[in-house]
Amino acid sequence: MKERVGIGFDVHRLVEGRPCILGGVRLPHPAGPAGHSDGDAVLHAIADAILGAAGLDDIGILFPDTDPRWAGADSADLLAAAVERVRAEGLRAVNVDVVVATEGPRIAPHRQAMRERIAALLHLDPDRVSIKGKTLEGLGPLGAGAGVAAQAVCLVTAAEAD
Ligand code: MG
Repeated sequence: MKERVGIGFDVHRLVEGRPCILGGVRLPHPAGPAGHSDGDAVLHAIADAILGAAGLDDIGILFPDTDPRWAGADSADLLAAAVERVRAEGLRAVNVDVVVATEGPRIAPHRQAMRERIAALLHLDPDRVSIKGKTLEGLGPLGAGAGVAAQAVCLVTAAEAD
């Protein structure tokens, strides 16, 4: 069996004045995800999904927030590094499916840009990347717009497979 599946989940608080970068795309929103890196919860969830599929450690272990190398890091660099780790295991992504739950920035107008950015980072065609924005029905702190949560699932296969 060459195929393996992995899941990733991440949450970041939204803080006024931070750049709002999600899915590797800068969104026009007055608050952005807090974090040691740029706080891109979408790319973090995807990185954990692909690393998990390969049976590797998660990004919190591989790229710890106590390491000054990753301070203010572009999460695209984190995801690219995760993809390289997976490639070193002889595996590559087949597709990724992501849910972004927030009542902060609107996701729908930026879905296509996110798909293209993520696809490039995973060496996939954009039609192998799905992004779905969801609201939270006003429930709890996330529903009040205090943060962004992202869940991702990723299938990997042997690097030489179709
Ligand atoms: Mg994170």
